[in-house]
Amino acid sequence: MKYDYDLFVIGAGSGGVRAARIASQAGARVAVAEEYRIGGTCVVRGCVPKKFLVYGAEFSQMLADAPGYGWTVGQSSFSWPTLRDNVQKEVTRLSGIYTSNLAKAGVTAFEERAEVVDAHTVKLRKSGGEISAERILIATGGTPYLPEGLPGVELGITSNEAFLLAKFPERVLVVGGGYVALEFANIFHGLGAKTRIVHRGDKLLRGFDEDLRAHMHIEVERGGTQLTLKATLTKLEKAGDAIRATLSTGETVETDCVLYAVGRDPHTEGLGLDRAGVKLDDAGAVIVNEYSQSCVESIYAIGDVTNRFNLTPVAIRDGHAFADTIYNNRPTPVDHSFVPSAVFGRPPIGTVGLSEADARRSYQSVDIYRTSFRPMRNMISGNQERTLMKLVVDGESGKMLGVHIAGEDAPEMVQLAAVAVKAGLTKKQWDSTMALHPTAAEELVLMREKVAAPGSAA
Ligand SMILES: Cc1cc2nc3c(=O)[nH]c(=O)nc-3n(C[C@H](O)[C@H](O)[C@H](O)COP(=O)(O)OP(=O)(O)OC[C@H]3O[C@@H](n4cnc5c(N)ncnc54)[C@H](O)[C@@H]3O)c2cc1C
Repeated sequence: MKYDYDLFVIGAGSGGVRAARIASQAGARVAVAEEYRIGGTCVVRGCVPKKFLVYGAEFSQMLADAPGYGWTVGQSSFSWPTLRDNVQKEVTRLSGIYTSNLAKAGVTAFEERAEVVDAHTVKLRKSGGEISAERILIATGGTPYLPEGLPGVELGITSNEAFLLAKFPERVLVVGGGYVALEFANIFHGLGAKTRIVHRGDKLLRGFDEDLRAHMHIEVERGGTQLTLKATLTKLEKAGDAIRATLSTGETVETDCVLYAVGRDPHTEGLGLDRAGVKLDDAGAVIVNEYSQSCVESIYAIGDVTNRFNLTPVAIRDGHAFADTIYNNRPTPVDHSFVPSAVFGRPPIGTVGLSEADARRSYQSVDIYRTSFRPMRNMISGNQERTLMKLVVDGESGKMLGVHIAGEDAPEMVQLAAVAVKAGLTKKQWDSTMALHPTAAEELVLMREKVAAPGSAA
């Protein structure tokens, strides 16, 4: 046979594992290389362990809410080693399932780094062997970005290390204003750390609907996390066992942990893609067409390394579509429209479709429906957290363009709302659905009054 394998996948994360399994089940001879742990970011140091930590953090609010519901809660305390180790046990179990699923599908796994030599060859870094393949799939994901040129940068950590901390920090400085920053601030704050977010922008959550951004600003501060905007770190130094951070405002802050959540780069550095002639964009992402094919015919790329929508379900769909296109004779471009997403902050966010600003850029007439309320479960507990719901509707066709929610269970609600938005339902059809009482979600089908358009006299 001309090549050692039909397909060589670099990276056994969400996308790579799915592509490898489907291709192998379709009869291809497939190998995959993984330099860290099989399962990738989502399973090992992303979505899954993060959500467990979020669940852990939620108990502090539940304990605070309990007396209003008649519960007397005894002395409570939190053990980080217990939570950390239980989460890691589950991560190991899931990584094991991914490993055995690859084996069951007949995929050969090399647990080491691989780099591209040319259009049909990869080199295994540890064992040094060169392997040829008819096609190479780049599924190497992303990697956390560190603040460039920051003196003392090595004193901070990224989300990668946060899951494995030896000791729970009493004080945490989270640097960044995106979803990972908000989620880790929520985790540390909920688990009892004095938490502060330092963000260079003037608002949190760039790219999200403006009303959501404003709502989260209020709720983050109300919840007790300190928020410092329009500021960056200029220096980190050791201060005994602690870290002294100097901010661009001149303020110095003593903390026990600095967590950088300032973005992620596509993981292409040192991968050898230049040797094969694969074109990257300015961010280092592999440029691909709708079938995830790069400019080199035999090299494809999927998931975060293409920097399209950096979410697990998208990477999985990309991987499946690639394998169907090539090995199941079913050309499948991935539909990246109306991708729902969540932020597991306090309160959590669920969002799908266009923000109001994006809708106004693309549509002549846009109707907005919005409500903000204290949910029923907070009324007798004294919890002041509010829920925001916002619908963005095409004023001409009446079609739902976007649903944005910040509040308890928002991600669960938005998964279902995404079905209706993706199906192109109108607000009228949406409203014809009977409310389910008493829920917070019922408010979504009960918003009758449009919010006055900006600039209108109403
Ligand atoms: C903290 C955090 C929280 C997140 N939360 C969510 C969430 O709630 N929901 C959601 O949908 N998404 C979330 N994500 C994003 C999600 O994890 C990614 O979108 C998803 O994992 C992308 O899958 P992938 O297959 O493209 O890459 P990955 O899952 O990153 O897999 C890439 C793999 O390639 C390996 N690799 C890299 N280079 C090489 C090489 N040269 N040789 C061999 N192996 C290599 C890496 O070790 C890695 O295992 C989160 C990410 C982070 C960091």
